[in-house]
Amino acid sequence: MSPVIPIQSAPSAAPSACSTPNPSTRPVLRERGQREVFCGLTGIIWLHRKIQDAFFLVVGSRTCAHLVQSAAGVMIFAEPRFATAIIDDRDLAGLADANEELDRVVTRLLERRPDIKTLFLVGSCPSEVIKLDLSRAAQRLSRQFTPAVRILNYSGSGIETTFTQGEDACLASLVPCLPAAATGLEDGASLLVVGALPDVVEDQFARLFAAMGLPRVQFMPPRRSTELPAIGPQTRFLMAQPFLADTARALEDRGAQRIAAPFPFGVEGTTAWLLAGAKAMGVDEATVEQATAAARQRAQSALAKVKPVLQGRSVFFFPDSQLEVPLARFLNREMGMDLIEVGTPYLHRQHMDEELALLPAGVQLSEGQDVERQLDRCRSARPDIVVCGLGLANPLEMEGMTTKWAIELVFSPVHGYDQAADLAQLFARPLDRRQRLAA
Ligand code: SF4
Repeated sequence: MSPVIPIQSAPSAAPSACSTPNPSTRPVLRERGQREVFCGLTGIIWLHRKIQDAFFLVVGSRTCAHLVQSAAGVMIFAEPRFATAIIDDRDLAGLADANEELDRVVTRLLERRPDIKTLFLVGSCPSEVIKLDLSRAAQRLSRQFTPAVRILNYSGSGIETTFTQGEDACLASLVPCLPAAATGLEDGASLLVVGALPDVVEDQFARLFAAMGLPRVQFMPPRRSTELPAIGPQTRFLMAQPFLADTARALEDRGAQRIAAPFPFGVEGTTAWLLAGAKAMGVDEATVEQATAAARQRAQSALAKVKPVLQGRSVFFFPDSQLEVPLARFLNREMGMDLIEVGTPYLHRQHMDEELALLPAGVQLSEGQDVERQLDRCRSARPDIVVCGLGLANPLEMEGMTTKWAIELVFSPVHGYDQAADLAQLFARPLDRRQRLAA
């Protein structure tokens, strides 16, 4: 049995002047100008790997097809689980009935692929521009294909959204399909983890919860869409990703209750997240300490090796993934980095309350974007590393700045104890490379 490490000792010493008394009163710079972000179609890349019997049919243009195909980088002879039904000139000119065309494409696809159990029709900017009603299309096609295939729809359009909202919209579309949980008192509360996690991370969390005496924790999305978790007023849910506002609202509408917690990044965040989930299920702190001691110790040792590269360096976050606030907290409190600006596309005060309380007082928070102004602030601050989208990374590198692509933070396994050092390495590697080049 592993020695018990007190949970309070898990985080590294926090820099001085950390928490503010009331995070909801923190000043935030709000900007509404030109933005540089990917669209929600990007979420298909990790969602199609996670839900293994689902198919994502984008209804969009050739640009949409190129975006998804190049981001996924799959081999062309693999049996894919996503595709694009191209809206062409005839559809745009109203010469063809786009609904008829879509029905034909879906019928052909489902006849050829009996392995598909859930089909997501994914809207795009072009489908929204021609006002193709995909929710009606999903209802119409459901009449034809239910119960063999569930047909749902959501929008991945880049109009007024950012790329992680694709996952939010996808999961929110699944919520009405979740079966109702039994409500008898003898059934007790159940714990649901919400947010797509790589299978290896999900298995780690499941083992930790099992070690606390919670063997039946459910995850959403599940690996198979035919195994949806049951929910109801007895369900307590923990968010694994900070960008799931619509999904959380839909779950709450079904009676489930959100457990307030920081997000599971780094040792501190992971411990606080696990502890919040366990406490909501009636597990005491000593049990959580015991169950997590070995993993915490491993993660702390691994982080200690990366910390010298990051400590005392400054970081500037452009708004992109919506992971910015929890990542800034991790880099500041566990890696000793200085935060110059933490930009995020949307700041959900309620979901971020626990995170905001852990940020140092006086840090510049910004919501939304006016990219030229933000670039000016970044240039004048000259941070050691800039976290931004692909569109900004290359020009900033040309100006001699070190950058980290925000999208990599969503594509890589970064949650939990065993990935804490990998997460730190994602920031350390570009700094290390720059140092070597300069030497
Ligand atoms: S959905 Fe919109 S932003 Fe995304 S690839 Fe298609 S056209 Fe571009």
